[in-house]
Amino acid sequence: MVNVYNTSKEIADAQPTVAILPVGALEQHGEHLPVATDWLRADDRARRLAEALGQALGPCYLLPAIAYANSQEHMDMAGTITLRPATLALVVEDIVLSLRHHGIRRIVILTTHGGNWVLKPTIRDLNFRYPDIRIIHADGPLLSEREKMPREVHASSGETAGMLAIRPDLVKGRSPDHSPRFGQEWLDYAGMGAITESGAWGEPSKADPEAYEAGAQAHTEHSVAYIRETFARLDETLGPIENDTPRARS
Ligand SMILES: [Zn+2]
Repeated sequence: MVNVYNTSKEIADAQPTVAILPVGALEQHGEHLPVATDWLRADDRARRLAEALGQALGPCYLLPAIAYANSQEHMDMAGTITLRPATLALVVEDIVLSLRHHGIRRIVILTTHGGNWVLKPTIRDLNFRYPDIRIIHADGPLLSEREKMPREVHASSGETAGMLAIRPDLVKGRSPDHSPRFGQEWLDYAGMGAITESGAWGEPSKADPEAYEAGAQAHTEHSVAYIRETFARLDETLGPIENDTPRARS
């Protein structure tokens, strides 16, 4: 695995064929978690994934997480910064085209923020506009899976456990447990400030950092399986990628 702490020559010599682009968010996370929560979690998950994927697919280029994403649904609470979907789309496109310029044609986008579903049209558009690159999500159902587990929505037990494991010094007690009687699609209609008291949606009191560690390992294994399966099926379905080797260092 190479990352942005390597020199340019080290990255060229490693000849990574896959890049991982994590996308976080800067947004309110209740009364007890920092606004950087999704950004910190994105880096943590992507590092785990890059290490595991490197053993499966060869060296990866791990990029730093994009800190700013689309968080319009959290703007009624202080500290939140949002990019409009079109701005985020351009940022991701420019990063993808930089990777393509350097001959990296397989790109995995890992996001830790639900609102980053707005990236779906961008991923679709880039795949069709640039047939010589393959951009996939880090997470998706395996062929063998039929159902997804339900999960809590925001600043709840999962995210709190993650922060207790990654940066316990940044966790300030717990927001009260609260699950408002709305579906998650309500975040397309109204802000978190209107729907919740504290900005947290779920049960932070149930956070268990040990369960996070086990969950993160299982999550990484699942992502590796999904990414291997998906790249292999794309190669079968669409044929090999043209020039699927990194550009030689000039
Ligand atoms: Zn979050």
